[in-house]
Amino acid sequence: MNNWWARRSLALAAVLCATRGVASEDPGDWAIHDEKRPQPRVVDPGSAGTAQSGGRAPADAIVLFDGTDLSQWRTQKDGGAARWRVEGGYMEVAPGSGDIQTAASFGDCQLHIEWAAPSPPIGAGQDRGNSGVFLMRQYEVQVLDSYQSATYPDGQAGALYGQYPPLVNASRPPGEWQSYDIVFRAPRFAPDGRLQRPARLTVLHNGVLVQDARELLGPTAHKARPAYTPHAAKLPLGLQDHDHPVRFRNIWVRELDEP
Ligand code: MG
Repeated sequence: MNNWWARRSLALAAVLCATRGVASEDPGDWAIHDEKRPQPRVVDPGSAGTAQSGGRAPADAIVLFDGTDLSQWRTQKDGGAARWRVEGGYMEVAPGSGDIQTAASFGDCQLHIEWAAPSPPIGAGQDRGNSGVFLMRQYEVQVLDSYQSATYPDGQAGALYGQYPPLVNASRPPGEWQSYDIVFRAPRFAPDGRLQRPARLTVLHNGVLVQDARELLGPTAHKARPAYTPHAAKLPLGLQDHDHPVRFRNIWVRELDEP
């Protein structure tokens, strides 16, 4: 199919989706951070998904944070000790101290992480309980206070930032613990650097499916959709300092074999 036909088919598909009231899920059909992109339906997650504080991780998991110390974490900027606050069984972003990342590197993995947005809430949109879980330091599952707080859909809680809004908005109120369970398949690159297989993410937010085996277009970014650049098979997991005191607890990861 030549480019003209490809563009025409895409435009037609977008029109059909619009006339049927069905949102196109192809990020290529939407401008980045498009405010007109449909808002995901709100779903009360009930009591699903969040493990108890102090709960035991699966036997084959690597515990990255058990509520006591940041020994598994480093400051991303300089590799020094992570300087976020630890108290009450959680870690809290120390605004201005910078993103943190794991000392160890991971490729394909299952990640469990719990987080809570500041309460009472401060700010609106992207300036409200913003942080992020970065797979391989470059593929962000957005952390944001999206409870009764609107923003561009590809930037709300559970979004693959700038690419895919969550399927539904399963947010809990600020101050309440929420969970992400993420299955990540790292991208594969040929020896010459060519992309063989894009990164793929499945995400449950508070036990509710919000990303279903999504294939990323490339690294996630603000107001940009950069192409893949080849990288190592394993890289650290990162957590974002977006100047908001977001809390995290009960973080564990299971390394996955090739499917
Ligand atoms: Mg973020």
